[in-house]
Amino acid sequence: MFRRLSTKYALSVAFLLSIVMLTVLVLAGRVVYQRTSDLRVELADSFSSAQAVNDVEALRASGVYLSNRLFNPLYRADISSLNEEIAQIHQWLAPRSILILDSEGRLVTDGSHENPRYREQISLPAGLQPSEPIVQNRSDGATLFFVIGFGGTTQGFARVELSNARRLEALRKLQAEVDTSWNGFESAFIDTALASLGVIALVSVVLGWRLSRSLSRPLSAMGQAAQEFAAGKLDHQLPEWSDDELGELARSLNDMARDLDKTSRLLTRTQEIAGLGSWEWRRQSATLTLSRGVYRILGSEPGAFEPTVNKLAEFTGASDREHLFSIMEGRYECPKSREIQIMRPDGTRRCVLLQGEPVLDTSERVTGYLGIIQDITEQRRSERQLETLANYDSLTRLPNRNLFYDRLRHAIQQAERRKSVVALLFLDLDGFKAINDALGHDIGDQLLQLVAERLDSVLRDCDTLARMGGDEFTVIVENVRDKSDLREVARKLIDSLSCGFDIQGRELIISTSIGIAMYPQDAQSIDNLIKIADAAMYAAKDDGKGTFRYFTAELDRNARARLSMEQELRRAIDCQDFELQFQPQIGTRTGRLVAVEVLLRWRRDGRLEAPATFMSVLEDTGLVTRLTRWVLQETCRWHGKLSANGLTNIRMAVNLSARQFQQDDLAELIDETLRGTTLSADSLELEITESTLLDRDSSQRNAEILANRGVRLAIDDFGTGYSSLIYLKRFHVDTLKVDRSFVRGMLENPDDAQITATVIGLAKGLGIRSVAEGVEHPEQLAMLREQGCDMVQGFLVSKSLTGPDLLDWARGQRILDSECHWKRLA
Ligand code: C2E
Ligand code: CA
Ligand code: CA
Repeated sequence: MFRRLSTKYALSVAFLLSIVMLTVLVLAGRVVYQRTSDLRVELADSFSSAQAVNDVEALRASGVYLSNRLFNPLYRADISSLNEEIAQIHQWLAPRSILILDSEGRLVTDGSHENPRYREQISLPAGLQPSEPIVQNRSDGATLFFVIGFGGTTQGFARVELSNARRLEALRKLQAEVDTSWNGFESAFIDTALASLGVIALVSVVLGWRLSRSLSRPLSAMGQAAQEFAAGKLDHQLPEWSDDELGELARSLNDMARDLDKTSRLLTRTQEIAGLGSWEWRRQSATLTLSRGVYRILGSEPGAFEPTVNKLAEFTGASDREHLFSIMEGRYECPKSREIQIMRPDGTRRCVLLQGEPVLDTSERVTGYLGIIQDITEQRRSERQLETLANYDSLTRLPNRNLFYDRLRHAIQQAERRKSVVALLFLDLDGFKAINDALGHDIGDQLLQLVAERLDSVLRDCDTLARMGGDEFTVIVENVRDKSDLREVARKLIDSLSCGFDIQGRELIISTSIGIAMYPQDAQSIDNLIKIADAAMYAAKDDGKGTFRYFTAELDRNARARLSMEQELRRAIDCQDFELQFQPQIGTRTGRLVAVEVLLRWRRDGRLEAPATFMSVLEDTGLVTRLTRWVLQETCRWHGKLSANGLTNIRMAVNLSARQFQQDDLAELIDETLRGTTLSADSLELEITESTLLDRDSSQRNAEILANRGVRLAIDDFGTGYSSLIYLKRFHVDTLKVDRSFVRGMLENPDDAQITATVIGLAKGLGIRSVAEGVEHPEQLAMLREQGCDMVQGFLVSKSLTGPDLLDWARGQRILDSECHWKRLA
């Protein structure tokens, strides 16, 4: 109770006030006491001096004094005043009698009302003179005589009979009275002092209590608030009592709590975002404190368990437990941070980073450890994802080019160390592009995924299958003993694709061509190894696809030749070392020249090269687009010459590769080239393959634009691709060119004949012109004519001719008779 501030304060105030009041009282009492005891001493003095009342001198002096007092009333003969004076004198001197006489010695008054002896002659001692009172002493008292007068005048006389006994009695009475009143005074003084002390004490207690309450209440409220703040209850607000210092203090405390609350919320939020929690382990009390964030990371709630290091260890696996102890209890010199796995109560796993630091006291002694726990699951996951993205192909989940290079580099290093052999198998799917073009990328992608699975399924775990991009795959085979190992691997890979793939209800067949190269015998660097494996793969393709080829020196030469051809072609384009040849197309009914197909030739070292030798290089390198303008210009030029020589209305059929046909500026280029020439848009026919048209939006856009301008479109090599019919009408195809492979076999093979008949029938049905290519024999022509083919082209009519030769040929043009024999035109 006495520890409460209000009590302490009240008692102190009361004590202080009492001391002050007591001091005042004591001082006042001392003064009163002093004065009273002085009075008593005086009384005692006068009492003792009263013994000496008979002292003549004193009486005589009294006589003089009384003479003066009595003169006036006697002069005025004022009896009642005289009586009053007599009464007064009775009080002073307690005489036995007082007699006032006139100047003749007769009684004026004895002080009584009755005054019975009035005018009685009273004897006076002789020689009584004014200012010279006479005292006559006796044994029991004295008689005082004096003149009542002023100056020399005598108004009368006075005789005062004094009795010692009476006088002493009066004095004793007075003494007793003084004593009684002294005793009363003493007890009254003590009572009053005690009472006022009590009142003062009470008042000061109340006052002090009230005062202190006004102080202690806010203070204790603040103390309580401070405890709540410390306990983290920062939303607690103090009432702001007044404008004084206490109010200000409360306001400051509230502001501080608000700021702290804001900061702590911010901290909690940022910790939440960072997936962070903190912990502290105190060595002395062996207690562990965990922040809310730690519970969150553990998938738990504060209070859900008693926080101990052992309890935390239950969240980790056995292998991480020792790390946890070592960091949280500083069991031995250890790295201050560790990545450990925890398992939440709901079974989910999290990856956390545990960090700790020792806490030192002022004398550098370790008193405990504190640190953080950070949930880095997402971070690790995205790192893994990034790594996967960087190293794995998203479509097939196989290692990508990046990882492939890493693995190959590693395999080569191993091979160097062990003196062993590494083989690289380069795979390219056959005809994948056509499937992709014709059936769409969705199906193409699914096919790639299934192919990847099949290839992977036949390989050993130690072999690496990677996707290089597109339809290219690679396999790294380590520790190769001899070529037969590789033959087996290649065969297995090829055979794995031999069964068709069922995709969206379609049966798709695909094969792969494989090139094989070995380190260190075939190449000494990674780049070379890849290059020659690639060259071997091309050789496999040339060998009829679906097979494999080892790298050979000859292949190496071919690869080099391709490279040097590319250089030569670049120069040839710059120098325009090309020329055009023309192959006539004649109508099967009329036998007349209707159109010519424009064919490109390369003038190389004095010879003319056909496209078969260089076209693939031109296309692979993209150089072909640089030729488009020149081919169109030359075509126009020769059309002009044909017209000038009377060969009017001849259609010019120009071949365009997919790349050329996809050029953005193709329509403008054609407009520009045709402008001011004899060649009109509807006499220009562009020959493209089916896949070109199906491949891209840009091809389809160009097809539409060109059709609108009247330019004609021919589908080349029809029947070898996907022979999809929808686009024939949609893109306003004018001409179908029946591929020469069917024409070649049509006489011997009924299937081929059937195909040519079907294609020609189909074209007719759609209102499209049909042209048969590669017609070499009159029997082929006869059959085609029967099947309703509109036009033919081939060696039977003419080989491709230079411009001047074409003019000669046309001049001597012949027509076919009904038996398919040439006749000279009249
Ligand atoms: P294509 O469009 O199918 O051209 C027809 C090819 O068949 C020509 O070969 C022609 O000489 C050959 N040929 C014609 N009649 C017969 C025949 O009765 N029997 C046989 N066995 N062959 C015959 P060429 O000129 O070597 O052209 C090959 C390919 O080169 C062409 O095939 C064409 O796709 C491409 N090509 C030719 N010129 C150009 C061009 O200017 N630009 C583009 N992009 N490609 C061209
Ligand atoms: Ca053609
Ligand atoms: Ca063709």
